[in-house]
Amino acid sequence: MFERRILLVEDEESLVLVISDRLKSEGYQVECAGDGESALAKAVSASFDLIILDVALPKKNGFDVCRDLRQRGNETPVLMLTARGQVVDRVIGLKLGADDYLTKPFDMMELLARVEALMRRSRATVEKPSESYAFGDVRVDFRKAVVTRDARTVELSGLELRLLRYFIEHRGTLLTRDELLDKVWGYGATLATRTVDVHVAQLRQKIGAEHVVTVHGLGYKFVS
Ligand code: CA
Repeated sequence: MFERRILLVEDEESLVLVISDRLKSEGYQVECAGDGESALAKAVSASFDLIILDVALPKKNGFDVCRDLRQRGNETPVLMLTARGQVVDRVIGLKLGADDYLTKPFDMMELLARVEALMRRSRATVEKPSESYAFGDVRVDFRKAVVTRDARTVELSGLELRLLRYFIEHRGTLLTRDELLDKVWGYGATLATRTVDVHVAQLRQKIGAEHVVTVHGLGYKFVS
């Protein structure tokens, strides 16, 4: 079971607090952005299951953020928060690639219902491809545990396959050595973090070094 990550983009601090507290209490992991530019930067540098996007924002409005995301090929579901009665807003929002909208002020239960519906939709589209994944000249079939590169089979150990899967599922996100030890090895941080470096080096040789980027002093990031 993976954490469900939500990017909450809203500049009204009181609303940010109320929404993020509620989402966290429902078990979601919440990241916040207070303006359109930082929202876009966060949305493209990490993967989220859902973006809750206010329309009226400093620096770049929600419509522009949504349009820029879609133009960059980012398909993360977007739930837009629009001002009361602005029907035009909704139409524009949906045209620009938002998946749903909610008019302010809204009931928290209504927000949660929309969030859950969008999550289910995004899970449904995400789950199938996650059984197989392609990047560069590499094809991974997790179900059969088969990896090919340039149509030739690549031998990966069980650990390397788990590591690769964790990388793919968290692509674009900075992963620290401690997190990898914890989630892939399952030993917590009792093993030397050097162990991670050794296995990442082996994995790089097999799938192409360019796909696992070293973030100096911090950890690794998978890029497809
Ligand atoms: Ca606002």
